[in-house]
Amino acid sequence: MIKIANATKIYENGSRGIQDVNLTIEKGEFVFVVGLSGSGKSTLIKILLKELDLSEGEIFINEENITLYGKNQIPYLRRKMGVVFQDFRLLPNKTVYENVAFAMQIADASSREIRRNVPTVLSMVGLQKKSKAYPNQLSGGEQQRCALARAIVNNPPILLCDEPTGNLDPDTAWDIMNLLDEINNRGTTVVMATHAWDIVDAMKKRVISMKNGFVVRDIERGGYNNESLD
Ligand code: ADP
Ligand code: MG
Repeated sequence: MIKIANATKIYENGSRGIQDVNLTIEKGEFVFVVGLSGSGKSTLIKILLKELDLSEGEIFINEENITLYGKNQIPYLRRKMGVVFQDFRLLPNKTVYENVAFAMQIADASSREIRRNVPTVLSMVGLQKKSKAYPNQLSGGEQQRCALARAIVNNPPILLCDEPTGNLDPDTAWDIMNLLDEINNRGTTVVMATHAWDIVDAMKKRVISMKNGFVVRDIERGGYNNESLD
């Protein structure tokens, strides 16, 4: 469902983001992307979101070549992909409910659908009692649960996560991981960039390791295995 072929991203200053990456990720997979800081994890996420264009190579989503998508096709692409970042990126002047509802408004949902789906997804992430709170009234874990609710409310087939537990304490990080696992078990493809080795080791999922922009290992049910990255 996601196919990345001979993909290279070189930034304008000459930095190598990713180099000759070839990956296929099937529908419903849960994939960790690991590697040291600067190894290309975020670049990989950004090229899937079309936040960045490739220098070389191609990307297919469901057999559809998105490499040459123009700006007007990006909203359509974003409906296929939810995304969660390390720093939550909630809208500070909107409540929990409004943050999630806004993602549906952008996707042209009707107000009836919004009234139906927002409470459902908020209760899935355990935030039903916080729906009127603003982001600065929430803990880090609650903010990330809100960001996760926003990412999945339009029911995208793919969920991309860039260091989603990076700002969270270990217990809260595991709450988020359990939610990601549940979302994946409902059929959503999850791609998660992280360097949380304890989480990667415990989850026993596919692990793609990056180094200097290259994919250096790709293991079914792997672990973090720092040794391979040195
Ligand atoms: P990671 O997420 O694994 O830490 P990144 O994808 O952010 O790695 O970075 C990969 C490489 O690309 C690094 O060498 C980094 O310095 C470089 N890079 C990332 N973003 C930019 C940018 N906007 N401009 C120039 N170089 C960048
Ligand atoms: Mg990064």
